[in-house]
Amino acid sequence: MIGLSGRRTRTTLALTATALAASLALTACGGSSSAKGTDGKLNVVASFYPMEFLAQQIGKDHVSVTDLTAPGVEPHDLELTAKQVAGVQKADAILYLKGLQPTVDQAVDQASAKTKIDATAASPLVDHHLDEGAEGGDAHQDKGPAGDPHIWLDPARYAAIAKSVGDGFAKADPSHAEDYRKNTDDLVTRLTALDQEFQAGLKDVGTKTFVTSHAAFGYLADHYGLTQVAINGVDPESEPTPVRLAEVQKAARDNGVTTIFFETLVSPKLADTVAKDLGLKTAVLDPLEGVKDPAEDDYLSVMRQNLASLRAALGAPGSAPAGAPTPAATS
Ligand SMILES: [Zn+2]
Repeated sequence: MIGLSGRRTRTTLALTATALAASLALTACGGSSSAKGTDGKLNVVASFYPMEFLAQQIGKDHVSVTDLTAPGVEPHDLELTAKQVAGVQKADAILYLKGLQPTVDQAVDQASAKTKIDATAASPLVDHHLDEGAEGGDAHQDKGPAGDPHIWLDPARYAAIAKSVGDGFAKADPSHAEDYRKNTDDLVTRLTALDQEFQAGLKDVGTKTFVTSHAAFGYLADHYGLTQVAINGVDPESEPTPVRLAEVQKAARDNGVTTIFFETLVSPKLADTVAKDLGLKTAVLDPLEGVKDPAEDDYLSVMRQNLASLRAALGAPGSAPAGAPTPAATS
């Protein structure tokens, strides 16, 4: 029954699509008054990769997306060029995460776009103090009360943001509302599956504590019952104090930590030094602030790599040991 009706729906859809294409061609010539750019697509500006991914997945062919943060560039404290600011001002819709990039926040404030989608409206920020009682090294203290911006690293929060993007696009471009809704549902389904993989994969781990160079994984840790010990604050370029380093070393020793994580867009030097001091391994935990090669990887594939890395570092049963030396003592 399902198969039959499915096939029928597809035939109907194909016919509708042809009719739609014809009517779209007419509209394009007629020059309608909808909130769209010259190419007939919704002109969307996304502040950095996780926002760009949502815009692409939900908007597909109906949108033209510009990412303000180039691939491989670290997004914290991004400076915008005059051209980019002009682009923000001309956008039909803007997707951003208030509190992550101050210059983007300013440009968005000054932009006249009717559709401004702030990720933190769908998933409010929490102030994550560096765990294990850190006083030193938390560079986020000087960033005001905005809180930890890394909400996209919790797939459940990311799904909530996806829904708000779907709603925003549907309002900005009502003639394609149905497609935006369908694409949103599809993405949310994939994010829910990812969330379930994380839940299952991190259930029976040997230790719940992981050490990372940049405090990007507070929401992920909260959601899966883990403890993040960060060498740095939420700003990846900050330098830890000797006091902070001593605290991290103690936390690592007390909790049977095997691995120091570093990230892809920032030099691993600090993580290397700390790991060497403690005789530990290093591995990559990617905060997805940018994807180096969007043709190779996306949010979902990188998150699955992160899950595998976490399972290995935390001694999950059946996981491959992270990086090198110790062939993991299972118990
Ligand atoms: Zn960050």
